[in-house]
Amino acid sequence: MALTEDQLLIVESVRQFAQDWRDGGGLDDLTSDDPVPVPPYDALAQDLGMAGLGVAEEYGGAGLGLEELALVVEVLGAACFAGPFLSTAGLATRLLQAVGDDTYLPRIAAGAARFAIDPTGTGRTVLDGDVATDFLIVQDGALYHVSADDVAPTFVPVVDATRGAVDIAIDRATKLGVLPPRALNECRVLLAAELIGVAQAALDMTVAYTKDRVQFGRTIASFQAIKHRAADMMVLVEEARSALAYALQVAADNPDSDLGEGAAIALSTAADNAFKVTGDAIQLHGGIGFTWDYPLHFYFKRARAAKGWLGTPAALRAAIAATDFADEQAEFAPELAPFRAEVRGWMADNLSGAFAALKHRGGPGDEDAFPDERKVWEQQLGNGGWTSLSWPTAHGGRDASIEEQVVFFEEYAAAGGPGRSGHIGTTLVAPTLIALGTPDQQDRFLPGIKAGTDYWCQGYSEPNAGSDLSNVRTKARLDGDEWVIDGQKIWTSNAHESDWCFVVARAVEGTQGRDGLVYLLVPLDQPGVTIKPIIQMTGTSEFNEVFFDGARTADRNRVGDVGAGWKIAMATLGFERGVSTLGQQMLFRNEFDLVVRAAKDNGTYDDPLIRDRLAKMWAGLKIMRTNTIRTMSDPANAALERAALMAKLYWASWHRDLGALAMDAMGGNADRITGGELSRLQRLFMFSRADTLYGGTNQIQRNIIAERALQMPKEPRGDL
Ligand SMILES: Cc1cc2nc3c(=O)[nH]c(=O)nc-3n(C[C@H](O)[C@H](O)[C@H](O)COP(=O)(O)OP(=O)(O)OC[C@H]3O[C@@H](n4cnc5c(N)ncnc54)[C@H](O)[C@@H]3O)c2cc1C
Repeated sequence: MALTEDQLLIVESVRQFAQDWRDGGGLDDLTSDDPVPVPPYDALAQDLGMAGLGVAEEYGGAGLGLEELALVVEVLGAACFAGPFLSTAGLATRLLQAVGDDTYLPRIAAGAARFAIDPTGTGRTVLDGDVATDFLIVQDGALYHVSADDVAPTFVPVVDATRGAVDIAIDRATKLGVLPPRALNECRVLLAAELIGVAQAALDMTVAYTKDRVQFGRTIASFQAIKHRAADMMVLVEEARSALAYALQVAADNPDSDLGEGAAIALSTAADNAFKVTGDAIQLHGGIGFTWDYPLHFYFKRARAAKGWLGTPAALRAAIAATDFADEQAEFAPELAPFRAEVRGWMADNLSGAFAALKHRGGPGDEDAFPDERKVWEQQLGNGGWTSLSWPTAHGGRDASIEEQVVFFEEYAAAGGPGRSGHIGTTLVAPTLIALGTPDQQDRFLPGIKAGTDYWCQGYSEPNAGSDLSNVRTKARLDGDEWVIDGQKIWTSNAHESDWCFVVARAVEGTQGRDGLVYLLVPLDQPGVTIKPIIQMTGTSEFNEVFFDGARTADRNRVGDVGAGWKIAMATLGFERGVSTLGQQMLFRNEFDLVVRAAKDNGTYDDPLIRDRLAKMWAGLKIMRTNTIRTMSDPANAALERAALMAKLYWASWHRDLGALAMDAMGGNADRITGGELSRLQRLFMFSRADTLYGGTNQIQRNIIAERALQMPKEPRGDL
């Protein structure tokens, strides 16, 4: 989201205020036995004039929308600011606006009223009520108001000392109007934003502390156990951010939607994650984290209290499941409707006749299905111009935006498009050659990839070079204008179906690690190459051993300089972890639907635990897509680097969990093999165990996150 300069100034001044308050010992004065002090809130509301940020200008406010308000409450959440800002400037403002109030909004904007909200309609444990001048009560879908003077609030000590509570008698409240469901859901979105601030601050404090604290003669940040936990904390924070971004996107795109699903996804994720992150923060601090003087416990307690305020995470997920997983978001990118229609029409016209048998076949764990027919299908896609969709027009592509690619993959998945035989060529080799190859290489290789006539595989891993990829032993030596290659690759996907392999080999005698490597394009149909399929746990063979015994390739098939192989290999890997997975993620939606179907067919859909897990997976789907789109649409945005770095770990773990859930959803039929063939869900269950390995294992992803995003000390290795 792009903020105007004025809005940026507002966010910045609130940030400064919150930081000063926190640095000035704002949290030190708080106890569970006393109301929170009012002066800081009044300073924010009156002196800085921030109470009316979300109030319409006609009532004296700044008229900020939900997105901007979310930014402001996040900033205050990061300071764990104690005072009824969220309740007044956030929640009360949204609720009052929803019922068309014109009495209290001007008072809020003037900083003359402090509000507390009772979303339960019981008058019990009303948060922020300790300092409230006014109360809003939600009961049976209507909004009521009562003044503090009329209800004699009774102070109630609560665990979270940053937000005092009261009990009130609500029988004297006045009805303000019927509340549209969206209003309370907007409140949930704002609470989610505050919790993101809370979690981010706990993470930041933790990372800083671990870089400082020395045990066993080194900073504890250098221990991998600490780095990986910190990386997981960061993933939780970024997951919550993408959940919030999803909700805000739905809110912006669909003014008529009640925001039930988006808000439930945002708040259930933020509340669970903030609680986990703040708890982990205490753990990584050791004893100091358990003290009253160290501020972490305020964050931890606030995160806990938020879980019970506007709906528990489990209740919010139950609400998602109760909709039977109906999509709330209107069609993605409505401005691309003509393009969507084009893809849909093409798929309907072409994935028919002889190709109809390929529908839903050849995906992960099913690669042995119709290998030859799927190559013909790839050619059909090539004729339609879809294999080169994202390539620049100068190279025969359509220069499609990320949004267009998403639309293509959505429609491809919706039509049951089969697993793509050409994906390594189209999404790994082609972008590498376009970015780093010679014009001659582009001319020779791109047309065959585009046409679906040339197939490729990736020759990186070796028996002794897995995660530590730079340990490759395969040798390449120049003989005239040809390279001679000796060595062995392993786990090479699709080698048995491929014409070419891109091989990382050691070209400079005596070098080690990343130095002295070369990146060669090697034809596989030659005497020096032997390919032996390896049977996987699915019983099928998607990967192979590839032996090079004096295999040859021309020097003009070398990408980059001799010695620059590492750089090229990493560029390809960047594509592997990025755009290339987009299509795969769209297929996840089909798989999710299948799991729901299986739960219904096998009677497990009524099990609340299965429904809770399904709702979590559903949220994950939305989060994953939002995360992918926001990072890929704006790759130069440094603020999104963390979200980009978590993508592989996130989708791989999500898919693994879906595989496990698929089996549990099948209940008593899970292990039964019918008709001598594994079902799609059984294959999913098994193959998803590979997702957390290839393309950099989950542990390597955590190393990368800890070192690049959190700048924790580097591992001795950890190259892939
Ligand atoms: C289905 C599938 C398809 C594949 N396709 C290809 C392909 O087409 N081309 C190709 O080149 N490769 C491919 N691979 C190989 C894949 O990239 C490797 O399996 C992966 O990089 C891990 O290497 P490894 O198997 O040697 O495991 P190892 O590196 O030996 O790892 C073993 C365990 O140790 C952990 N570990 C290793 N180093 C560290 C560290 N520094 N810190 C913490 N933990 C660590 C790992 O996370 C893992 O849990 C494929 C793998 C699979 C499963």
